[in-house]
Amino acid sequence: MPAATPSTYLAIDVGHDRLAAGVVNDYGEVLVRDRVATPQRDVWPALQRLVRRVVAARPEDVGPLRACGVTCEGPLDRDTGTVDPLHMPSLRGFEMRHRVHELTRLPTVLASSSQARVLAERWIGAARGVRDVMVLLLTDTVEAGIVSNGRLLGGRRGNAGQIGHMIVEPDGHECVCGAHGCLWAYVSGAALAAEMNRPLRRAPDAVVERTGRMVGRAIAGAAAVFDLRLVLLAGTVPATFGPPFLEAAAQELDQRSRIPHLRSMPDRARPLVQLGVAALGREAALVGAAGLGRLALHQARGPSRPSAGADAAASTVASR
Ligand SMILES: [Zn+2]
Repeated sequence: MPAATPSTYLAIDVGHDRLAAGVVNDYGEVLVRDRVATPQRDVWPALQRLVRRVVAARPEDVGPLRACGVTCEGPLDRDTGTVDPLHMPSLRGFEMRHRVHELTRLPTVLASSSQARVLAERWIGAARGVRDVMVLLLTDTVEAGIVSNGRLLGGRRGNAGQIGHMIVEPDGHECVCGAHGCLWAYVSGAALAAEMNRPLRRAPDAVVERTGRMVGRAIAGAAAVFDLRLVLLAGTVPATFGPPFLEAAAQELDQRSRIPHLRSMPDRARPLVQLGVAALGREAALVGAAGLGRLALHQARGPSRPSAGADAAASTVASR
């Protein structure tokens, strides 16, 4: 008998600067990928064309498409499947999950990009086998995806993980959300570039060090709340700032984590809360979106079928 053909998943990632889509197999391999710059208006027609192109480019021998995972910048509403992205006015209130399902006829699940990334790192990346992990995405947006005791945290409407709006400096810089002193206002690529009036790669040492310190401070808070064992940093900010940034973050995390079960002492070389760098680079968003699709598929097969990390984000699936 020939070996069973593996399933494949359609993966879609909607960002303010680019739209990406791909086909990913059961091993987390991206078989087809394509992307376009996000247009100022008419985002949906551009996304439709991209999705149709990717589906048409799928090789015939790779197995059927079983489900679709869509990630979009937040906020979003998991229950209604609508998105309300801060930086994409033309998609405010857009019924993303329903429209993608209409287009593809696949069981479709919607979540934030950072929630998908933590699934990707647990699937084939640096968090395999880790049940309590946070992936902190540091780009123009600052978001986290958190898996707690093996389950992806979605929150009330699917927006869990908005760590960018954790206060790290009372009465500090104004944030895009309207509050003051949010982590976003100190460590997002957009806020840093605006503050310095120069690209990230030319940041002075003091800014790199301060960014690391602020990130370490927020991680210490999150680690205490969620009893984390691993935190992975992803995105352009850690990639550009490199080791001095990571060192500052690790030092701040160590200094701020005094509660006994999180303390890195007495063995400073082996802290209980490990800080590392995400293993998956540019592919992470598509692999993560496919990971969401896999969860949707497991759920469509019924609750009796156990799925690793059956999750809140997948609890509402468009499969009508
Ligand atoms: Zn904020």
